[in-house]
Amino acid sequence: MKFKSINFTCKNCGAPLRFNPIEENLKCEFCQSVELIESSLKDIKEYDLNKALKELKLNHEKKINKEVKCSKCSATFTMNPYSFSSNCPYCGTPAIIDFVKEITPQSLLPFHLSQKEAKEAFKKWVGSLWFAPSKLTEFLTDDEKLKGYYLPHWTYDAKTVSTYQGQRGDIYYVTVERTTIVNGKEIRQRVQEPRIRWTPVSGRVYNEFDDITIGASKTISYAILDNLAPWDTGKLVPFNEKYLAGFISEEYTIGLDNGFELAKVKMNRVIRQTIRQDIGGDQQQITSLKTDYNETSYKNVLFPVWTAQFKWKNKTYNYAINAQTGKVSGERPYSWLKITLVIGIVLIGIAGAIYIDENPQVIEKASKILHLLSVNFS
Ligand SMILES: [Zn+2]
Ligand SMILES: [Zn+2]
Repeated sequence: MKFKSINFTCKNCGAPLRFNPIEENLKCEFCQSVELIESSLKDIKEYDLNKALKELKLNHEKKINKEVKCSKCSATFTMNPYSFSSNCPYCGTPAIIDFVKEITPQSLLPFHLSQKEAKEAFKKWVGSLWFAPSKLTEFLTDDEKLKGYYLPHWTYDAKTVSTYQGQRGDIYYVTVERTTIVNGKEIRQRVQEPRIRWTPVSGRVYNEFDDITIGASKTISYAILDNLAPWDTGKLVPFNEKYLAGFISEEYTIGLDNGFELAKVKMNRVIRQTIRQDIGGDQQQITSLKTDYNETSYKNVLFPVWTAQFKWKNKTYNYAINAQTGKVSGERPYSWLKITLVIGIVLIGIAGAIYIDENPQVIEKASKILHLLSVNFS
């Protein structure tokens, strides 16, 4: 199957046009001519989830060889099986082809950050990282490595009803007598001690979810992609190929059904929080929970992401930038020299504190640093 590619060419000189995130138009790289993108008054629609899931089951998806003929240099190349826009590997001309998947994106967030701005955001992020090796910024000089992707996402809406059973814990104090030794003498003292009274509880809570976003691409790890949220879905625009010119665009590889299971995990966190508030008291336990998801709807959307890898001491690290907000998410190396130095200083501080005075601040600082080390994403 050979795909016909569409692209947009400059009316002035015939060169290919690309989407320009700064001016939000199509721009010619050679003569700087611009072509405006007509604004659309089409509504961003939500689609019935249950209906779509039923219909999807009837169809099996085939693997398709996406052979594309470049309209500029006539070379033939094969696009990634899940991509539908890319650049010709021989002449760089943007090529956009037909969708293969049944559900196609009806809206997208256009690129807002240019490649240059994305690079700045990444440099800032590296600079803000605790314990990152100081030489790291020197490794970030190759512009070509930063690739722009429109990555597929699902958004889900739902109204939930959750019934639960659990325990409410209330703290109360009792007076107890204790024997302590002061200056070699035994003294009886009365002290207040906390206890928890547990009471069985049950109830029902209601939640409303709007646009829970789930990454539907496997090009970047789920954790990195998910960490790029929040996305401002209020800025979605109706799908238009012009926004894709020059970028790699992908169709979903995580299905509508699996995406909803991931969305349920996110909703569940919020529901449990609502239940804890509903139970009240000082502590809460949830022993059983059942949730009904009503009025479920979804959208298939494209979000703009800059992504790249960097190598540090023979290890590859992946990172990505939200091209709407500039938020960076990624894997990162640690400088063990810096960590060892800081731990050493903290330990000296703790040792000093024991002799002088019990200093809870130093201990708190040490535990904060140890906690930071266990956090991989920032
Ligand atoms: Zn031109
Ligand atoms: Zn070409």
